[in-house]
Amino acid sequence: MAGNITFTMIKPGAVKNGHIGAILNHINKGGFKIVAMKYVHLSPQMAGQFYAVHKERPFYGELVEFMSSGPIVAAVLQKDNAVEDFRTLIGATNPAEAAEGTVRKLYATSIGENAVHGSDSDENALIEANFHFSGTEMFA
Ligand code: ATP
Ligand code: MG
Repeated sequence: MAGNITFTMIKPGAVKNGHIGAILNHINKGGFKIVAMKYVHLSPQMAGQFYAVHKERPFYGELVEFMSSGPIVAAVLQKDNAVEDFRTLIGATNPAEAAEGTVRKLYATSIGENAVHGSDSDENALIEANFHFSGTEMFA
């Protein structure tokens, strides 16, 4: 499965603003197969653990608070070259810099509330998928 999966979350802002369906449609049209999916409200502890790599960054507290502010949609996606292709589909971290037609350009409201997460490497995709899903919840 390595090399062919990525992990995503539709973040609380995009969920609150009613964009779950539109974002899933982008994902499907982009050629990704959904191999796991759940609708879940992360505790501050889980959100903090997920983004622990950013612990020392000035925006960490704000990020954890936001990611635990409401439900998210977590999913594992499969496609050749999934990590890179998904990051192309979602666009730059800052929606002001995201290319036209990307998910963040269309649905993000700020760099902090940027609609979706996408894994940054094959290794992290597996770690993140396993953080949110057990083996019996993934259907690759
Ligand atoms: P993600 O990991 O959520 O897919 P990313 O890989 O594009 O995003 P990272 O550098 O990993 O970007 O940052 C993780 C998240 O932290 C970003 O998605 C964003 O919500 C938040 N973040 C990053 N930089 C800033 C910033 N300068 N100010 C506020 N929030 C930020
Ligand atoms: Mg990242």
